Amino acid sequence: MGNLGYSDTPVLPSGYRVHDGERPQPRIVTPGTPSLPDQPGATPSDAVILFDGTDLSGWESARGGEAGWKVENGYMEVVPGTGDIQTKALLGDCQLHLEWAAPAVVKGESQGRGNSGIFLMGLYEIQVLDCYDNPTYADGTTGAIYGQYPPLVNACRKPGEWQTYDILWVAPRFQGATVSPALVTVLLNGVALHHATPLMGPTQHRQLASYTPHPPVGPLRLQDHGDLVRFRNIWYRPMKAYDEA
Ligand code: MG
Repeated sequence: MGNLGYSDTPVLPSGYRVHDGERPQPRIVTPGTPSLPDQPGATPSDAVILFDGTDLSGWESARGGEAGWKVENGYMEVVPGTGDIQTKALLGDCQLHLEWAAPAVVKGESQGRGNSGIFLMGLYEIQVLDCYDNPTYADGTTGAIYGQYPPLVNACRKPGEWQTYDILWVAPRFQGATVSPALVTVLLNGVALHHATPLMGPTQHRQLASYTPHPPVGPLRLQDHGDLVRFRNIWYRPMKAYDEA
């Protein structure tokens, strides 16, 4: 299994290397079947809608200018080569919901199959990948905090099926040289993958993460990794900061 990942990368506190091909694969859990599997999830009354399936007016290219992804049939889809897109809204501590689907036509393997990503504050990636019957390095599987923590389990649905992410996010705090790390709780298809997991810093490829101070809010960014991943029904609920009076 060593060829799944890397053996020349720095060692994490866990003792495994970043993207270690020997790190155990997450255990597979079959998620329950939603009552309306083809319908977007219900949206709470106080949610701030980031994408309702009609247009990308709330989004822009991460490189600047218009978002280049296409919108059809109530979802957005990556247009490879147009680059990452991000919200015009800036998010801090929040509850985030989104739905995604990997391409129904399976193509590629490992990191090359249905790869995208959800970057909280534009910096912290929760991996989007088709890991249904597709092993890859554990800290890069679906729902991994990329390059830091594998998900507790693999709760992927089949490619082409809609999947849900529900994420609770606490932004990092910077006070002088003191950092209170970002904390994330992630559910995929209703199954917990992380619970209040402290991040080591903005997620990195092949490197150890570390913090440098940044603003308390940032955009939600979605990754163009060259695969035709779809997203729909994206909303968030700002949450009062735990240290706010
Ligand atoms: Mg990715």
